Amino acid sequence: MRIRVENLKIELSTERWASSSTLQPSIAPQSHLHCSLSMKWSAVCQPDILPRKILYWASLSTVALTLYTNSDMGSEQVPDSRSAVSMNVGIIGAGIAGLGAAVALTRAGHHVEIFEKSSFKNEIGAAILITPNATRILREWGFDFERAGPVDFKQFRFIKAHNGEVEHREDFSGVEQEFGSRMCAFSRVDLHRGIRELVEGLGIEIYLGAGAEDLDIETGIVDIKGQGKVKKDFWVLADGCHSRFVSSIAQENIPTHKVGKSVCRWLAPMSKVIEHPENASLWNNQPPGFCTFFNEKILLVTYPCRGGELLNCAVFHDTRPDEREKDGWHGETTHEKVLETLEGTSDGVRHLPMTVDQSNLRVYTVTQRPPSSTIHRGNFLCIGDTTHHMLPTHAQGGASSLEDAATLEIFFGPSFYSHNPENLEKRLDTYQKFRCPRSATTQILSSTFPHITMEGLAKKEEEIRSFYQGELVDWPKGCGPWSKEIRDFFYAFDVFEEAEKAMDAEYRGVSL
Ligand SMILES: Cc1cc2nc3c(=O)[nH]c(=O)nc-3n(C[C@H](O)[C@H](O)[C@H](O)COP(=O)(O)OP(=O)(O)OC[C@H]3O[C@@H](n4cnc5c(N)ncnc54)[C@H](O)[C@@H]3O)c2cc1C
Repeated sequence: MRIRVENLKIELSTERWASSSTLQPSIAPQSHLHCSLSMKWSAVCQPDILPRKILYWASLSTVALTLYTNSDMGSEQVPDSRSAVSMNVGIIGAGIAGLGAAVALTRAGHHVEIFEKSSFKNEIGAAILITPNATRILREWGFDFERAGPVDFKQFRFIKAHNGEVEHREDFSGVEQEFGSRMCAFSRVDLHRGIRELVEGLGIEIYLGAGAEDLDIETGIVDIKGQGKVKKDFWVLADGCHSRFVSSIAQENIPTHKVGKSVCRWLAPMSKVIEHPENASLWNNQPPGFCTFFNEKILLVTYPCRGGELLNCAVFHDTRPDEREKDGWHGETTHEKVLETLEGTSDGVRHLPMTVDQSNLRVYTVTQRPPSSTIHRGNFLCIGDTTHHMLPTHAQGGASSLEDAATLEIFFGPSFYSHNPENLEKRLDTYQKFRCPRSATTQILSSTFPHITMEGLAKKEEEIRSFYQGELVDWPKGCGPWSKEIRDFFYAFDVFEEAEKAMDAEYRGVSL
């Protein structure tokens, strides 16, 4: 028996309304306050899928939260005609997208197994910035932030590489307050381990050394190394930007192309970075965040991670002739070559690569792919970099992968889904209509950045409009990753709330 909720009355009392920017406009800012919100919300729901924002407000501090449903108010309860039938799900790839999908679908009540090609032994990793649209997903899942050593971003500094002079500073200290979730950097190894621990905590099996070698869309069978032919009700393809399967799902050849830039990257011990006096004055007693050095040839992006112990360094430069054939993420390079790319920069900047052993320097050649409008076929769905491989300019690739995953939790949760092949196909179609406009827009916005590539700028808006009709930032603000408009577009997005609205619309017969 479920309750059909037509009107949900929520009564909250808290001491911290004054600091809740989301609610402030509608209530008087005073320290003790009782308020009532009446929301029109018609969906068949369970308490665990109440709009997350309400639950977040409730988690802010001392809050009394009382929910009145229409049953309390005398309405009749209606029997649920849909029985929740769970699926056997196979996930190909255990990156951020695959692990996230496993957490989401298990929380939605399905039985999940992950098949990963690698053995996870070669994780050298660099760092990754996770913006509020994605940290709110991790928080919802119970991710252990403190164990993963987050560094909260408080500022962005754009610095002349030849003399260390700060040209521009952007204050990020209000981001958590404004968007209701943290913006933090992690070492990739720490983030991956944290999500993996969530997966293991849910009892999900990860098969390592189990690469998918072939798939049959008609039968839903995947040939997996060491496992043979595996059949599942639903397959999630999260095999990353070099996916061998994406073209058979999209039924078009979507080439990944090199943009002419490469990135030398390493994780520098902060204690060694600040041994150089120029660096000590830049990093000591400063709020953490981006310190990005530039000249006409390079962009050196740095930010601290692992609780401030390490400084992530990434030098974007024109691809050198000897880097043109490098395809992977772990290409080798040398101190000499990195110093050549840093020619003309200050001594403090040139000190950075010297803080690590040469074996820890890596080079990666930057690639991107245009968006695809088809992301599912048969019982297969592509998520993450498999379908929206983008440039790292706006720090949104991992965040989009987590948004993809979180959508699965709502779309395939017991309140909105019961399994049979026909329902699956329809739901995957809705998933595509829901996710593609946002992920394609994110991909296209990420494809321009002044120091990396401005290729095709004039056509960007037209390109976006073929996927997305909603509000859009003006150009050229769209290529400034840290502008207020861009932050609003990316960080304010609450995927759980939006996915619930999409399901609600579907039940009311409104097409997306
Ligand atoms: C330089 C750089 C900086 C970035 N910075 C940020 C940032 O700050 N913030 C952000 O949000 N994003 C950032 N990104 C993007 C982000 O790293 C990616 O979008 C994200 O890691 C994609 O995750 P994924 O799980 O889709 O793919 P992947 O991480 O590539 O995972 C794919 C997995 O599938 C496995 N696999 C491959 N083939 C098979 C097969 N046949 N069978 C089984 N398993 C297979 C692989 O071994 C791998 O484990 C950055 C990217 C780059 C390149």
